Order: sequence, then C-alpha cells, then structure tokens
Amino acid sequence: MKALVYHGPGERSWDSVEDPKIVDPTDVIVRVDTATICGTDLHILKGDLPETKPGTILGHEVVGTVEEIGAGVTTVAPGDRVLMSCVSACGRCRYCKAGRYGQCLGGGGWIFGYKINGVQAEYARVPFADNSVYKLPDELTDEQVLFLADILPTAYEVGVLNGMVSPGDVVAIVGAGPVGLAAILTAQLYTPGRIVAIDLADSRLEGARLFGADMTINNGRDDPTAAIMELTDGLGADVAVEAVGVPQTFELAAGLVRPGGRIANVGVHGKPATLHLETLWTRDVTITTGLVDTFSIPQLMRLVASGRLDPSSFATHRFAIGDTMAAYDVFADAANTGALKVVLNGPESTSAHELQLATAVAS
Ligand code: NAD
Ligand code: ZN
Repeated sequence: MKALVYHGPGERSWDSVEDPKIVDPTDVIVRVDTATICGTDLHILKGDLPETKPGTILGHEVVGTVEEIGAGVTTVAPGDRVLMSCVSACGRCRYCKAGRYGQCLGGGGWIFGYKINGVQAEYARVPFADNSVYKLPDELTDEQVLFLADILPTAYEVGVLNGMVSPGDVVAIVGAGPVGLAAILTAQLYTPGRIVAIDLADSRLEGARLFGADMTINNGRDDPTAAIMELTDGLGADVAVEAVGVPQTFELAAGLVRPGGRIANVGVHGKPATLHLETLWTRDVTITTGLVDTFSIPQLMRLVASGRLDPSSFATHRFAIGDTMAAYDVFADAANTGALKVVLNGPESTSAHELQLATAVAS
C-alpha cells in the first residue's frame, strides 16, 4: 500500500510500504476513507517529538471501513464504517476504567502516527479496536465526524469542560487555530455570555467570528488584557482557554481571568512558562492541564447527528489520498493558504463534497 512516511526532521515521502496485518487479537485493519492532517504532525516533522522514529507512518485522525478483525474483537465487523479516536484505550487499566484513555497504562493513549504507524495511508492497523473505534450512523458523512477524532474532543474536554464554561460566562480563547475554533464552537453548548477570541492572525480572527466569537482581539496590535477588563468591569474573564502552546500565551491567559476564574491549558508546550504566583496566590484561580481522552466522542456525535453541532466547516481544502504530499504543503503554509483542516479522500470516502458532486452530476 501507499503511506505518508516520516523519515526524520524535515523529511517525509509518499512511499510504498507493506500492508498492515493483524498483530494482536484485539486489532482490526481499517481501509482509510477520509483522513486529515494535524498541527501535531507538523510538530513531529519539525523534530519536536523525538519519540517518533523515522519510518513511522504519520496521522491520527481518520474515518474508515473495517476490512479484517482480530479473533478477540466483538463489537465491530468487516464492512462497518468507523471513526477512530486519536487516543487508543486498552480498556483494562486504572485510567481506562475511569474514562481517562489519554493516560492509558496498558499500551494505549496517543500512539497513532507517534509511537506506532498512523492513518495517513491506504490501510491502518488499529489496536484495542473494541475500545477505540466508534461505529458511524449511515446518515453522517465522513467529514461531519472526521474532526471528532481529535480537535473537537480536545477543545471540548480540555478547554470547555476543564474550564467549566457556564451560562453567562465571559470566555477568553487565546489562539484561534483549529483547536481554538473548536473551543469557540463547543463553548456555545453552554451558552456563555461572551466569547472573546485572541490571535495574532486576522485571518484566524475572521474564522473565529464565523465560528461564533462575539469579539476578537489581535494581540499584535491591541492589548487583550485591557479589552477584557473593560468588558468585565475590571474583573477579568470567567474562563481563559490557552490554545497555542507558547509561554507568552499561557502567561497572557493566566492574567486574563477574574478572581475565582479558571485557566484551561490546551496547548502543547515545549518550554517552561512563568506562573505568576506573586499575583495569582490571592486570586482563587484554578489552572487545569490535560491530554485529550476522547471520552466525549459519543456525546459529540449525537450532537452532530441532531444538527446541534456542525464541524464540517473546518474542512477548507480537499485532496485525493494519493496527493497527501501536496496536502501537507498547503496545510503547513496556513498563513498564505487559509487552510484550517485539509481533508484526504480515499477512493471510497463519503464526504459532503463528494455527495454534492454526485448530486450535481445526477441532476
Ligand atoms: P495552530 O498552530 O493551528 O493554531 C495556533 C494559533 O495560535 C494560530 O492561529 C496562531 O496564529 C496563534 N498564535 C500563535 N502565537 C500566538 C500568540 N503569541 N498570541 C496569540 N495567538 C497566537 O494549532 P491548533 O491545531 O489549533 O492547536 C492548538 C494547540 O493545541 C497546539 O499547541 C496543539 O499542539 C495543541 N493540542 C493539544 C492537545 C491536547 O490533548 N492537549 C490535542 C491536540 C492539540
Ligand atoms: Zn488503558
């Protein structure tokens, strides 16, 4: 089969590789129908995550069709359309039993396209299938659910739920990339009073308004702290979500919340950030961190099915899976291409785009 292979920092290629095979009885083999690329894949390509060994197939977000199941798999069968969680769950360890799959001790957690071969390929091996894949209702297209593999549950669980967004809250979201935008989308499930998006890129702030932000601040030009203080009578935001992953944005988020407020860190940090306890110690703030567990996938999928949540507008560019190399170029140059998520379509994908094309051709 063909796959996008990481060959060390800065090196990737679309290679012919061996087809994946069932290794453990809890594995399934899935044909890739629709996949996407994550900012984290770019981090790996930069060499930020040395745990990923050259030769690894990248990718952890995919909708596919089960081709083959291991002897121990009982809940999915060949032919089933499934969404794979970006996080695998052994289902047996202390953390999995508490629904905290991101911390799995039994060989799961975030492994796809990181510690084992990923899903930017024609086929993929999926370990712990019974606990880690979700059967899809026929009426949902691949693109409607694809972003539930990672960015939606990440923003919802690590941003909105950890931040305890509540009705009427002023919510400041620092960073309006796909994850920050997903936080804007899922925060609205709790009817906040105001959502304020902060980013350095005007194009991202435009996206933030489309996804439901009430106010946007370009922190390269304007002072976000002053603007939030003015909006909240000098108190600060109820919740600040950090969705960038650099020291400045964590420190900014920590300074935006009111006494008693919550700071939910989502960004992946490679460097230490300063925690200003000399000002925060009297302010009763709560700081949370987290790796996504994806326990919320079934809940988010019901919201998509009922029309209450529509993540399909994250898809800004579409490529045939064979053009994954070109898709990376577009995604990596988001500032110029305006890419949010680039979708990789396998030959059997059921994307809204393809359905529309089919309808257009038929009529
Ligand atoms: P992204 O890089 O696409 O978006 C980041 C946004 O931050 C961009 O719009 C950029 O313009 C903006 N930005 C950069 N520097 C800024 C600054 N100083 N001030 C304000 N805005 C700034 O990333 P993404 O895909 O949206 O992901 C966001 C973060 O979430 C990343 O760090 C990613 O690794 C992390 N993440 C965490 C988890 C988890 O489980 N905790 C899961 C997935 C992703
Ligand atoms: Zn586990």
